[in-house]
Amino acid sequence: MTDKTYVFGHTNPDTDSIASAISMANLQNQMGRNAESYRLGDINKETKYALDTFGVNEPEFLSKIDKQSNVIMVDNNEFSQSVTGIENAHIQMVVDHHRLNLHTAEPVYCISEPVGCASTILYKLYKQEDISITPRIAGMMLSAILSDTLMFRSPTCTQQDRVIAEKLSKIAGINLYDYGYKLLEAGTDTSDCSADEIIKLDSKDFKHHDLKITISQINTSTIDEIFKRKLEIEKAIESRIQNENIDLFIFAVTDILEANSKVIVLGNRTDIFKKAFHTELIANTTILNGVVSRKKQILPAIIEGLEQKIQLQ
Ligand code: MG
Ligand code: MG
Ligand code: MG
Repeated sequence: MTDKTYVFGHTNPDTDSIASAISMANLQNQMGRNAESYRLGDINKETKYALDTFGVNEPEFLSKIDKQSNVIMVDNNEFSQSVTGIENAHIQMVVDHHRLNLHTAEPVYCISEPVGCASTILYKLYKQEDISITPRIAGMMLSAILSDTLMFRSPTCTQQDRVIAEKLSKIAGINLYDYGYKLLEAGTDTSDCSADEIIKLDSKDFKHHDLKITISQINTSTIDEIFKRKLEIEKAIESRIQNENIDLFIFAVTDILEANSKVIVLGNRTDIFKKAFHTELIANTTILNGVVSRKKQILPAIIEGLEQKIQLQ
């Protein structure tokens, strides 16, 4: 056997980061290669629900990676959202559906597609290699698609995601919509989370020139429920801003039924947010109608606003 390949998604892993790591490692194994899936953080409740439903073990935690280790990155290609030491690892392959922000010394086999979920791309890789998908793996991949596309309601969702989710639900032997609601609902339970845990559940850091921007998101079926804890959450955000020198922190509470988000925006550069969304903040808060996607709606608006500003200077 050759050296092991480490397969993982992003830090603060979501269901796709876990499912696509598991299915990619399995695909490699089926092709006779030594690969293992890892997680770069705690499993969230939604992912736990999926793992329990399909009887799949959670991957082991990976805190850092040794120099020259073989790596496959799934559901992420940004070092700022990856494991410690990633800069010096040997990246064999990337399978992702986010903006590209990858700089490597050597050429990389990179599959990047603007689809709703990395697991959708993984499904096509199984087909390409003529490897059959077990019901367990299918269940995990399906969960990832339902999660990433908010049951096909996110603007990131494509026809491919819908068609492949349908096929996976048949392999997994599960009713897509019944299961989907239960899965998403499982992820909204934050009753036993501290405010700090809530803002860290699905948090991503972005660097743009000298600016450090954090966009954290949480799904809910009742926005008011989360906003009852607004003061506590603001305090947790303020202390993250202090400790990590964050310039702009956006916390989006996304209503999975109405497909809207209410945001709390803090930091010394809230002007960037207000300009990007042509909005004022009232008590650090505003509602973004129809906005549910960090990567396709929130981040691009912020980056576009910043680029325009740079051109004007
Ligand atoms: Mg993800
Ligand atoms: Mg994803
Ligand atoms: Mg997500």
